[in-house]
Amino acid sequence: MHILHTKEAVKSFRQNLPKDQITIGFVPTMGALHKGHLELVKKAKESANVVVVSIFVNPTQFNNLNDFSNYPKTLDKDLEMLRNMEVDCVFVPDSQEIYPNQPKLKIDFGDLERVLEGSFRPGHFNGVGIVVSKLLNIVKPHKAFFGQKDLQQVAVIKRLVEDLSFDVEISVVPTVREEDGLALSSRNLRLGQEDRLKSLILFKALTFSKAELLAGRHWLDIRNDVNMMFVEQQGVDLEYFELVHSNEMRILDGLVPEIPISLCAAAYVGGVRLIDNISVID
Ligand code: AMP
Repeated sequence: MHILHTKEAVKSFRQNLPKDQITIGFVPTMGALHKGHLELVKKAKESANVVVVSIFVNPTQFNNLNDFSNYPKTLDKDLEMLRNMEVDCVFVPDSQEIYPNQPKLKIDFGDLERVLEGSFRPGHFNGVGIVVSKLLNIVKPHKAFFGQKDLQQVAVIKRLVEDLSFDVEISVVPTVREEDGLALSSRNLRLGQEDRLKSLILFKALTFSKAELLAGRHWLDIRNDVNMMFVEQQGVDLEYFELVHSNEMRILDGLVPEIPISLCAAAYVGGVRLIDNISVID
């Protein structure tokens, strides 16, 4: 497995690949890898014959310095996991390599980022858009893999690829969960035992709401119940809990026929910010 730190090294890695029949599958990550990331790698391996993973904790997508400096780092373990998956190349740049100059370009995703993550994390999707563009230009993959866990990020990246004509196919991989339903996330490493238990409220509220919606109850009544669930759970602060168009991220006030619909939530559990979502109608 090649472990590369510079753009130049990635370029020569690409140049040394056989010229024909090569499909490069790319999985961008921020490290602290778990089975969710590995599922993306698995999907990449199924449809590409060269798999590149990047590990880069992108400073420009954090709007909270504390969250950035506390982001878990487990590089040796990550590399071991990727080696076991027989990944071909891991790109581990430092900040200087990616940002020799502070970008002046700002990406505004319009309505896609006025809600949910975008409204609670100002500048987040600008940072995501810039770093994903840079990584796509460095790695030049044929296919790139992203998790449904970050539903709004998927919408933003699809828009980026379309608007800037990136020559890459985007694949979306379903969320991998713990047995009890908690969505795997690098930030889960920061949850203490008690908070780990409390964090289950997110998945419970999502599955409860989905069942009630499909049973025909009004969304606003369901959301009142959900708000009460969170008020009663000490140590958990709900940031948002919304019903949205799964691709356009438009906030809905009830089920609408013939559009894909998801429930999206974000909450702080013991100071750790967790997000999750489930599809209500595909
Ligand atoms: P991150 O390292 O958190 O930036 O995530 C890197 C990629 O892994 C993103 O495309 C995420 O959506 C995806 N991912 C994170 N958690 C999961 C999960 N539990 N299941 C599937 N994909 C995930």
